[in-house]
Amino acid sequence: MAGKACNILVTGANRGLGLELVKQLAEASCPGRRIFACCREPSKAQNLEELAKKHPEVIHIIRLDVGDLASILESAKQVGSILGEDGLNLLVNNAGLAYRSNMKETVPKEMQDTFNTNIMGPMMMTKEFLPYLQKAAQSSAEAGMSCSKAAVINISTLLGCIEKVPQTYGFFPVLALPYRISKAGLNMLTVCNAEEFKEEGILFTLLHPGWVRTDMGGPDGEIDAPDSVSGMLRVMDTLTEKHSGAFLDYNGQPLPW
Ligand code: NDP
Repeated sequence: MAGKACNILVTGANRGLGLELVKQLAEASCPGRRIFACCREPSKAQNLEELAKKHPEVIHIIRLDVGDLASILESAKQVGSILGEDGLNLLVNNAGLAYRSNMKETVPKEMQDTFNTNIMGPMMMTKEFLPYLQKAAQSSAEAGMSCSKAAVINISTLLGCIEKVPQTYGFFPVLALPYRISKAGLNMLTVCNAEEFKEEGILFTLLHPGWVRTDMGGPDGEIDAPDSVSGMLRVMDTLTEKHSGAFLDYNGQPLPW
């Protein structure tokens, strides 16, 4: 369970949902826990740094740009040297980017940046951290799958639901075409990963955090980050092999594709 997972990595940990995830995970009492809080510019991540000062044994700040393969490789090396013989129990691919443009406005660079961050990022993170996840799965005595054994949680969105487009297009501050397409792609990636790694005991689940008042969600969101994150952590605690390849919201309700 996320509540019991020992070694956890969170991307985009300097603000918004990522920072709140690190906070709640660090505050949960779990002996020996290590949280790899990854962000692009640690020197500018004051809130994360202050949090890390309160939990110096737990939080390790790691420089990581998920859109840059060299940065992913470097972060994997650093995390590996801290993990030593231990595996990584939980990878949370949270970092995300949203351009709010529609079809007429969207330019190729926005599509490329969004795909790079929201699809290539989680994909290459999973690929490069796979040896550590495999190590965690292999060394666990636990049967089945869970977030305390070996899991990848990909943060998706209701806006990536193809079936819901007639209801949601134009609802979220604006249309966010590149964002929607990228998250629908992330959903496919996650389901394929769940299938490919099921024999290895690694859980892959998509979570929608709700419409949250962060920089991305804006001030009109429905909930605050602490409520979204406590909900997602509760859901993570309940995940088993039955949920590998599932798409759930922060209350554990399944979402359509
Ligand atoms: P924020 O915009 O508040 O934060 C985004 C985070 O992602 C920042 O830490 C940002 O870092 C990081 N990030 C962006 N690009 C990169 C990159 N290339 N490498 C590393 N980090 C990067 O968003 P939220 O906290 O609201 O969103 C978190 C996740 O939740 C996203 O995946 C989003 O799609 C999803 N989500 C959010 C919803 C909401 O209502 N807020 C609704 C549904 C889903 P930096 O400061 O360096 O830019």
